[in-house]
Amino acid sequence: EKKSSSEIRQMFLDFFQSKGHIIEPSASLVPHDDPTLLWINSGVATMKKYFDGSVVPEVPRLTSSQKSIRTNDIENVGHTARHHTLFEMLGNFSVGDYFKEEAITWAWELLTSPKWFAMDANKLFITVYPKDTDAKKYWEAVGVPADHIIAVEDNFWDIGEGPSGPDSEIFYDRGESFNNLAADDPENYPGGENERYLEIWNIVFSQFNHKPDGSYEPLPHKNIDTGMGLERVVSIFQNAPTNFETDLFLPLIHKTETFSGKTYNDDKEQDVAFKVIADHARAITFAIGDGALPSNEGRGYVIRRLIRRAVMYGQKLGIEKSFLYKLVPVVGEIMKSYYPEVLEQKDYIAKVVESEESRFNETLNDGVHLLDQIIAKTKAANETKISGSNAFKLFDTYGFPLDLTMEYAHDEGLEVDQDGFKAEMQQQKQRARAARGNQVSMGVQSDLLTDIKTPSRYVGYSDLEVEHSVLK
Ligand code: ATP
Ligand code: MG
Ligand code: MG
Ligand code: MG
Repeated sequence: EKKSSSEIRQMFLDFFQSKGHIIEPSASLVPHDDPTLLWINSGVATMKKYFDGSVVPEVPRLTSSQKSIRTNDIENVGHTARHHTLFEMLGNFSVGDYFKEEAITWAWELLTSPKWFAMDANKLFITVYPKDTDAKKYWEAVGVPADHIIAVEDNFWDIGEGPSGPDSEIFYDRGESFNNLAADDPENYPGGENERYLEIWNIVFSQFNHKPDGSYEPLPHKNIDTGMGLERVVSIFQNAPTNFETDLFLPLIHKTETFSGKTYNDDKEQDVAFKVIADHARAITFAIGDGALPSNEGRGYVIRRLIRRAVMYGQKLGIEKSFLYKLVPVVGEIMKSYYPEVLEQKDYIAKVVESEESRFNETLNDGVHLLDQIIAKTKAANETKISGSNAFKLFDTYGFPLDLTMEYAHDEGLEVDQDGFKAEMQQQKQRARAARGNQVSMGVQSDLLTDIKTPSRYVGYSDLEVEHSVLK
């Protein structure tokens, strides 16, 4: 009997509750009091108020399953087994209470005890910061063999100023058959960029204050913050080749099959489309449910971009009519045990999605048709780049953001002349300026549409892995 995602989420929370933690509900994806953050992107992002002392928690031990959005992973979605735009981060937090020894001992108990996750200890690998001899000692004490403990220089959380410290990451060896790299590839180890060793958990030992003068001063009250990707752990429990063949995503994929007449697992490229659609459907459903709306800037632009991307991938599956909004209730069903509010709001969310989708659909078919022609011509001419003027035409006439065109082209083995695109954009602005004299600027909207990378600059608390030199 395979455990369901709901059971696995609950098991994590129950475990830490049994260790004196209080369960914090999943907070809104829209940060309430943090102007530096576009989306809540980790469990700890919602706990800042406790760690900076502005709020004192009832109990200094907390646990949560926190919905999180990371736009910086958008290009990985569907291509790696493990990345999503929206995912849930399971976590346990100690606010100046327990520290390394308990965090490590409990992590190992949860993962390997037959009563809890019952994972095969032989498949787990642990990384430690080289100078963190304490962490190594505690991992050895729970029984991790020396050759499963790997020193990695990058294992240090640092957000510039403020709390920082070494971390341990836990990797699950999915086995030789998942190896996508050559044996001598330097990335072929737990912690490297590969598909064999799956990173499931990051445990941060927050023990220093990184001061403005660059020095590291030991914190009087040391903290623990951890993050475990629910979808990744579920993929292990359900013996799935990627996160997508789990009960969290399969109903979405099957529903999409009915819209497209195509079958999942028939063709690699099609599968990417199925995965991207399932991923984005979840993200937009939750984001809109939390009060964000499609627009041309900030958060709203992320939603708009996700919707347009999903619709374009729908085209690749031959779906010509609006469909994305029909996935909203499916997301609601899948998530209802922990997020009943999504199902309750499904009609509202679906309406927002449908109206955005149908607006884009009006120009999409013509745009994709043109893009396919451009790609064919570029290839026929033995060229490797789509011209800036063509990319600009797609943008200007059909609403295709540059990066969508780039991704689409990339799938066909082509690049886009970005400088050429920018030059066209400049020229159009000049023409518009000349034509309208001093009237209100319409160019602003175009700027925002092209600056598609903006949201990923808002990497938040746990996302900033700033270079650091020595642990002092
Ligand atoms: P990766 O190296 O796989 O991109 P990460 O090191 O960026 O992950 P952390 O910032 O350490 O991730 O986040 C803690 C945990 O949250 C990870 O160990 C992973 O289980 C999960 N996680 C992080 N990013 C994603 C994502 N985009 N999709 C799904 N799960 C994620
Ligand atoms: Mg990452
Ligand atoms: Mg990582
Ligand atoms: Mg990590």
